[in-house]
Amino acid sequence: MNRRVITIPWLLIIFILIIYGAAVYSMRGYSESVSARELDTMLENSQNIDSVVISTSSKNNTGTVTIMNKSGDRYQSSLTDTSRLAARLDESGIDYTVQAEPAFDLSIGTLLPYAVMLALFVILMRLFLGGGMGGGQNSRMMNFGKSRARLNTETDLTMDNVAGMVEEKNELQEVVEFLKSPQRFREMGARIPKGIILVGAPGTGKTLLAKAVAGEAKVPFYSISGSDFVEMYVGVGAARVRDMFEEAKKNSPCIIFIDEIDAVARRRGTGLGGSHDEREQTLNQMLVEMDGFAQNQGIIVMAATNRVDILDPAIMRPGRFDRKIVVSKPDVAAREAILKLHAENKRLGPDVNLGRVAQTTAGYTGADLENLLNEAAIEATMDDRPYISQKDIDDAFIKTGIGKEKRSKVISERDKKITAYHETGHAILFHLLEDVGPVHIISIIPTGEGAAGYTMPLPDKDDSFITRGQLKHMMMAAMGGRIAEELVCDDITTGASQDIKQVTKIARAMVMQYGMSDRIGMINYDDNGDDVFLGYDIAHSKTYSNEMLSLIDKEVQKLVDDCYAAAKELIMEHRDVLEKSCTLLMEKEKLTGEEFAALF
Ligand code: ADP
Ligand code: ZN
Repeated sequence: MNRRVITIPWLLIIFILIIYGAAVYSMRGYSESVSARELDTMLENSQNIDSVVISTSSKNNTGTVTIMNKSGDRYQSSLTDTSRLAARLDESGIDYTVQAEPAFDLSIGTLLPYAVMLALFVILMRLFLGGGMGGGQNSRMMNFGKSRARLNTETDLTMDNVAGMVEEKNELQEVVEFLKSPQRFREMGARIPKGIILVGAPGTGKTLLAKAVAGEAKVPFYSISGSDFVEMYVGVGAARVRDMFEEAKKNSPCIIFIDEIDAVARRRGTGLGGSHDEREQTLNQMLVEMDGFAQNQGIIVMAATNRVDILDPAIMRPGRFDRKIVVSKPDVAAREAILKLHAENKRLGPDVNLGRVAQTTAGYTGADLENLLNEAAIEATMDDRPYISQKDIDDAFIKTGIGKEKRSKVISERDKKITAYHETGHAILFHLLEDVGPVHIISIIPTGEGAAGYTMPLPDKDDSFITRGQLKHMMMAAMGGRIAEELVCDDITTGASQDIKQVTKIARAMVMQYGMSDRIGMINYDDNGDDVFLGYDIAHSKTYSNEMLSLIDKEVQKLVDDCYAAAKELIMEHRDVLEKSCTLLMEKEKLTGEEFAALF
């Protein structure tokens, strides 16, 4: 194991110390020692002398003399009898001062150079002798691979701090019990998994959940992130893993939490180009450690990732991370619970309806919701209001979700009109198509993220499966913007590019992933392009024929064409609404769902 790694910060520290030491040393002044004879000669040429200082020792008559000449050079000589020199100087009429020589000069000026040199020496010893000096691995002082895992004090979090996630919490309850009293499980002969992998999008509360388990069981919580290991020098990652487990074993029962485990635990041997050694070493060390402690030793390793598909299968073997818990994005009820939890320490006005906020925030994670309320609180504070109002939350919603509305931005009448038609086109379809929920807000106020306007639906369902009909309706609603433009303007604009992208994505997924096309059936043609793993993908490249490819294209095309025709027909039937809504939007810039529905 190579631990003698000189890192840039260390080199920088050494460099600064050297410069500093040199500077201090030169400032203090350097005096050349001279013999008694040379001293004599100097005193004879008294016109060259600038000053003379005699330092007398307290005990007897001995001491030193320091002579500075006119050009600033300093000479020093020791004296056996200071009074004799004094007498001689009096005789030749040279001015001098006498001072008592301190037993020890403890001023910073004299000590600093020595301190700096000592520090330098220690650092150099650490770097170059490494673990060898204090007895190999046990030498903590030399230990550069020392784990950066932190003994977290935040373990006062409990399951009450986690809203929603009923099943996840239930699944982890046995882990909590185990950590509380491993002995009970051991006696019963029950096997508790060593490793649990939490899979879910960022911000869904994986870290929170792991902390809550530790807090609930009142055990230490060590956390480290997989990305800490990346870009590290060879061997350091593995050493760090080893140290972390050593530390954990001493403090068991405890939890080790590895965030972003995918950074180290990617499928081995994938990717183009080398330099994956470090990652592999780190991963190997982790597997060795996990195999190395007994099932019931009281250490639970929890790891988080949002991509379970790219993990090395080796880490999922029995005895390693053999339990997988999926942490999904919260549904309506869970969103409301999370909002309530985070609203506890906030002052909400009477008009705030968290249930409604939960309804409009499909797809938001726990972290997003927390952020939403925080933004609303900031908004209310900035306006000096005593409570957070529903409007604050709506504004925060637009700020966090779509980008802050930019009322100040000047837009031409033409652009405004096109946007009004475009958004109304979406809105009409949202209103008419049952599966995509009624309209919540239509706005032609540009957002910070470059959209000229937006139409926000208010889905009243929160199903986890999406039906074929629903997907088609989503495609149709996305096409509404362009169709409206076509119907009323002479030309079409570039404004629909995002909509087109979405339509394409849905149509391709329906054909290639969901088996929703009759002619292709239940075959997956999604090659799951993941650039990072180009090597892997190349090895598994296209297993289907060119005929199949063109059939896929045809099916996608047909799906899109059918939806387009259906959507166009619906909008043409409601041309009056299109015109009325456009006029109203030009006037008010923003319509609520009720105002819009009244137009029908
Ligand atoms: P992850 O580790 O999945 O990226 P975190 O655990 O770091 O997500 O979550 C970030 C923040 O989001 C938490 O600190 C918490 O404030 C909030 N949060 C997420 N999920 C929940 C939840 N279920 N209940 C309460 N707060 C949550
Ligand atoms: Zn659009």
